[in-house]
Amino acid sequence: MTEQQWVTVLGASGSIGQSTLDVIARNSERYKVYALTANTQLEKLLEQCLIHQPVYAVMRDEDSAERLRQRLKAQGSDIKVLGGEEALCQVAAAPQVDAVMAAIVGAAGLPPTLAAVKEGKRVLLANKEALVMAGRLFMDAVKIHKAVLLPIDSEHNAIYQCMPVDYSRGLANVGVRKILLTASGGPFRRTPLTELAAVTPEQACAHPNWSMGRKISVDSATMMNKGLELVEACWLFDARPEQVEVVIHPQSIIHSMVEYLDGSVLAQLGNPDMRTPIAYGLAWPERIDSGVSSLDIIATARLDFEAPDLQRFPCLRLASEAISAGGTAMVTLNAANEVAVEAFLQRQLGFTQIADVVEGVLSQATNTEPCDLAVVEKADQDARVIAQEIIAQQTVNT
Ligand code: NAD
Ligand code: MG
Repeated sequence: MTEQQWVTVLGASGSIGQSTLDVIARNSERYKVYALTANTQLEKLLEQCLIHQPVYAVMRDEDSAERLRQRLKAQGSDIKVLGGEEALCQVAAAPQVDAVMAAIVGAAGLPPTLAAVKEGKRVLLANKEALVMAGRLFMDAVKIHKAVLLPIDSEHNAIYQCMPVDYSRGLANVGVRKILLTASGGPFRRTPLTELAAVTPEQACAHPNWSMGRKISVDSATMMNKGLELVEACWLFDARPEQVEVVIHPQSIIHSMVEYLDGSVLAQLGNPDMRTPIAYGLAWPERIDSGVSSLDIIATARLDFEAPDLQRFPCLRLASEAISAGGTAMVTLNAANEVAVEAFLQRQLGFTQIADVVEGVLSQATNTEPCDLAVVEKADQDARVIAQEIIAQQTVNT
């Protein structure tokens, strides 16, 4: 029997975090929880602590950490509770930890994810924003510290499964012609364009195929998610943007494909349930039970494909432009999008204004070379300030 592995789950209270704990619980002879973390979701983290009995529980919000400490103490628990950003990095980098699930949403996930990479951990990367922001620095750190990076984003996990094992020799050297990155097209693929401006957060978060956190659900609805994933694919597989083709596939049964020089196209299929890529990442190169039901290919019956409509989804165009611009443009795009999506969720901004804000910030921000993390962090902060200014003006105008 393989030795039990210690796992830290960053962002345990979220959608990916909960699915991860479900897979871990099904495979408790292989995995035990070292740390669970959350931002402010006290009740959820408390419940998870009592079930999974981690060594540490970390809440980024210090007040929430204090309340969790008291609640656990009242239950007679000896789980150690820490608060703050530094503690997130500590439990990601601790010597006992074998694997880290990086499932914090947004730029906030970068420091602890990078801390795990720098300790050479097995890193299960759901937090795409971290890779989009830090790109080269992130991938260099993976190589230098010999971290094992396993993509959890369903598309990238599918691509990883369809790639030859030695793909790091370069796509051309291993006979790969291109990557086909599939997208569901989100809830508004067919909505008349004139109705998009009035879309509510509830409508945007009601994804037809996947149940996800609110930020990524909005990103899926604007297709900014696919823009971020395009960048993610380029970094993970050392691909040029023109080697990655975005294909709309509304059923979300094929999770992405790899085309080879000889014309072969390999696809990974399965029910749309994140426990499949999570189980893959935890056990690789072995396979474990994920709890996902068997794909009923007969009931699925048909798989459709179409090209994305860049007029309907300007965020996808903006992401492509930011990739071409290079430098810190992707940091700017990501930060502006995070601020705009939050404003939309708070009903301070219309749905179609998300792209307007991102475009405005991209045109105003200075593009520099992301030579170190300080530059990345400054570009991130600058973009947030500009985005807030633009949003304040837009709200007045509406
Ligand atoms: P979620 O909103 O459900 O959960 C986010 C988690 O991050 C929560 O535990 C929350 O407490 C924590 N968090 C939020 N802000 C934080 C902060 N400032 N500091 C520390 N922790 C913070 O999100 P999710 O849907 O689970 O997505 C998590 C990540 O995985 C995102 O980057 C998303 O793009 C990616 N992802 C998710 C899915 C999915 O199906 N949900 C699929 C692919 C990729
Ligand atoms: Mg995805």
